[in-house]
Amino acid sequence: MRILLVEDDPDLSRQLKSALGDAGYAVDHAPDGEEAQFLGETEPYDAVILDLGLPKVDGVSVLERWRRENMAVPVLILTARGAWSEKVAGFDAGADDYLTKPFHTEELLARVRALIRRASGLASALLACGPLALDTRSGKVTLDGQPVNLTAQEFKLLSYLMHHPNELVSRTVLTEHLYAQDFERDSNTIEVFVARLRKKLPAAMIETVRGLGYRLNVPASPA
Ligand code: CA
Repeated sequence: MRILLVEDDPDLSRQLKSALGDAGYAVDHAPDGEEAQFLGETEPYDAVILDLGLPKVDGVSVLERWRRENMAVPVLILTARGAWSEKVAGFDAGADDYLTKPFHTEELLARVRALIRRASGLASALLACGPLALDTRSGKVTLDGQPVNLTAQEFKLLSYLMHHPNELVSRTVLTEHLYAQDFERDSNTIEVFVARLRKKLPAAMIETVRGLGYRLNVPASPA
């Protein structure tokens, strides 16, 4: 999952970038509204964390423009304490959720998880695919109730697929959603990670659609 973090405070940016990275997200950072505008329009994000008080272009204007362009990405706004009118302006501009500064990083992470889940149409924090379960809160994966040990890269890949069950996902899309902008991308690495992941899961679960990509097949639940 890839996140755009728009924040002009250098200390807070560093802290959030590191916390989001530790939580398994690929993070791009924009320190002002202009850069945010550009990145939001050119890169595919799974969620955006948008501070409203920004240099160059303010957060509400950035968000209004994105929504006018029909960008549906979930957006969590960061507002200053006591600035209730900022919240109203943010929601009117198309925000999905908000946090008032200062906040606990844990709460930000929980809200981001929920936003991404809901954007995928998933109600529960525990994602299931037949005997396979992924807990988005703890980052634990189980197969028939037994823990499956995954590397960070394997987990990111599986998490993306489990947020898009039964969907054809191309290697390009996976590359774009698993790596930040400054990462040296190579779609062959995706193939390698899929192959490793497959060895740890039931054989038919990740299907290769020749020349197109992959699909996580969710078995029909027993009647
Ligand atoms: Ca600010």
